[in-house]
Amino acid sequence: MKDDLEDIRNFVAKTTNEALPGQTSEGQKQYSCEICKDKGAVVDRIDENGLTIYRRCICATENLFRVKLGRALFEATRIQKSGIEQLVDKNLFLNCSVEALYAHLRFTVIYQGLGLHFRLASDHELLSVFLGNNEEEKTTRVFLDPQLLVLQLGLVGYSNKALPGVVSEIVQLRLAENKPTWLSAENDLSSSDLYYSEVLRRLVDDYFDKVRLGKAASKNKVSTAAPIIGQQIKSSAKNLNDIASKIK
Ligand SMILES: [Zn+2]
Repeated sequence: MKDDLEDIRNFVAKTTNEALPGQTSEGQKQYSCEICKDKGAVVDRIDENGLTIYRRCICATENLFRVKLGRALFEATRIQKSGIEQLVDKNLFLNCSVEALYAHLRFTVIYQGLGLHFRLASDHELLSVFLGNNEEEKTTRVFLDPQLLVLQLGLVGYSNKALPGVVSEIVQLRLAENKPTWLSAENDLSSSDLYYSEVLRRLVDDYFDKVRLGKAASKNKVSTAAPIIGQQIKSSAKNLNDIASKIK
């Protein structure tokens, strides 16, 4: 799991490495990544047989994270500390705003590395899938297969009889498969919630750790790159923000 992070650390330790040769002789050519001249890789070492061994450039790693995180998480607030980044094998009930959830999830995914198979979904999405498809068996797999499911509660804005059952069922099915789920809601679980059921209450009480996440937004906001990547690549002119601005 930590391989990518390790990659980044190793890479940063070797920023003096020679970059791949530029593709043209124009000295003025502007590259979006000056480290690798947009090759996506840099020379790591020459092995004992004289072969040049390359390693992935930080810019390529950032691009992979951009794809993995998706736009909402990629552009979420950068925080420098979370506290839940090592709890991906635990069931958590996260009490927090959407902004805080995204910021902490962003941090967690980058901390865990590209190998983490997670899915961010909402109760709204869950309900749509359950109601909108006859092949229930097959479609619920999208919520069961991920190593970690992060399920945002409270996004269904109308009362629906099926909702509480659908939510508790997916939690039960994941428990049965021994896979962790992070439930997230802005408030404590309450019987007035549209997704509430006694079953869900018992599941949360018995199997979930409750975590209140503070405001991630203003206070810890940093203007540089991703929390971990950012600290590691201070010497690089490029950061996630630069890339993010290009996608727009
Ligand atoms: Zn690069």
